[in-house]
Amino acid sequence: MFELLFPKQHLNNIFELDPQKLKELGIKGIIADMDNTLVPWNDRTVQPRLAGWLAGLKEKGFQLCIVSNNTADKGGELARQLDIPAFWYAVKPRRRAFRKALREMNLAAEEVAVVGDQIFTDVLGGNRMGLYTILVTPISDKEFFWTKLMRQLERLVLNYLKRHNMIH
Ligand SMILES: [Mg+2]
Repeated sequence: MFELLFPKQHLNNIFELDPQKLKELGIKGIIADMDNTLVPWNDRTVQPRLAGWLAGLKEKGFQLCIVSNNTADKGGELARQLDIPAFWYAVKPRRRAFRKALREMNLAAEEVAVVGDQIFTDVLGGNRMGLYTILVTPISDKEFFWTKLMRQLERLVLNYLKRHNMIH
């Protein structure tokens, strides 16, 4: 049960994703969280580095999808600029939006990785769905009050994983 909180990889940011390694794992699609994973919380500016990185992943044959607990109001324009299908108000860790993303990409759960900055939404939801889960360090420390509270619980999980050499 506790294992559902464990990511398979822990990276500093999305630019550390290793496309070659993902291919070797049989990953063909990547579901990305938006806030504090692709862009800082409450900042929708599309940086050229991000756009270039995501375009590069597409060129390498990966399908991309955004699954966010935020609203289309807040993220729709960003998804349009990046030209990535998106599912809003996902209520992660619920699985419904992940299922929709899999259907959109026409891929099975074991062919898809999810990358996000929160253990109790992105990682827990992804693991429940059977996806390959990748945790990234949040881009900024600005976030919802509720998220800040959850970070304290996250720290317990992260410390446990570090003690057991499951992440670095
Ligand atoms: Mg996030």
